[in-house]
Amino acid sequence: MKLSFQHLNLPLRHTFTLGNGSSRTHTPITLVQLHYQDHIGYGEAAMPPYLAENHETATVFFQKINTSLFQYPFDFEQIHAYLDHLSSGNTAAKAAVDIALHDLWGKITQQPLWQLLGSKQADLKPTACTIGISEPNELTKKIKEAEAFSFLKIKLGSVNDNALVAAIRKTTDKLLYADVNQGWKDREYALDMSYYLKEQGILLLEQPFEKNNLADLAWLKAKSPIPIIADESCQRLSDIEKMVDCVDGINIKLMKSTGIYEALQLFNKAKKLGLKTLIGCMTETSCATYAALSIAPLADYVDIDGPWMLAEQPFSTPVLKNGICQYSDKPGLGLSLID
Ligand code: MG
Repeated sequence: MKLSFQHLNLPLRHTFTLGNGSSRTHTPITLVQLHYQDHIGYGEAAMPPYLAENHETATVFFQKINTSLFQYPFDFEQIHAYLDHLSSGNTAAKAAVDIALHDLWGKITQQPLWQLLGSKQADLKPTACTIGISEPNELTKKIKEAEAFSFLKIKLGSVNDNALVAAIRKTTDKLLYADVNQGWKDREYALDMSYYLKEQGILLLEQPFEKNNLADLAWLKAKSPIPIIADESCQRLSDIEKMVDCVDGINIKLMKSTGIYEALQLFNKAKKLGLKTLIGCMTETSCATYAALSIAPLADYVDIDGPWMLAEQPFSTPVLKNGICQYSDKPGLGLSLID
């Protein structure tokens, strides 16, 4: 097996601002190709700033990999153990290898990956489209652009949370959930907001506090009228046990879980622990998106809108029907390269 990779800095459709004050116009992505016999498996590392990964760290990690040790692309357990032995971090770079292996699995067996993983189109739920923190007049435009989606995710954590929610509710009565991206510092404010959000018909509240502030998460979970979901606080399988008393559910993302292999274990464990699950994404191309969709029926909520956040990308964007992403019948991930 041979591994090659290419760094891209893809332009975003809109400047992306989060509750923690960060803002960006482009996003770093590394595409991986695994060559095995006559097949090429595609993988992707999408690297938002909080993962502390970038093109340089991805290069260093990929150069450490000795692919001659990978005899078969189906040895997921062995290959993941090897990748974790090379580095304790680099979760997005590891996800790129995992996704490429899964694409190869489908291409070698000539079956769509979602089918190999036992997923069905009929079990896929509508996906949410993220509306970033915006001035009220910009909001109307963004909500209109998200017309094809039946479910919206709003980013909170700026100074005008109430005004933002009120402005959105003036424009749309679609299902909504809210993500604060660690932006709130005051738990009493968070509790007041949770009641306000309930009144406004918001279904879930994601990551209100800094990721290590589990005490305030647990306090809020005990009092909030809407479910609290952990995203940045819960990244890998080793994080999930400590989530039980702090939150009602977790957001599983391939770029945090090192890919599909460990994401499947997270879904199993979450079910056993009685935690709700979301499947989420980063700002990413259709490569990582099709990978996440292949296991998305396992989640209670789907939040996969990465390709729609990009102004351009190398692959075709999945088709949406009634707000639901449609599986491709092609072998593997089902990607089509745009010429
Ligand atoms: Mg989030």
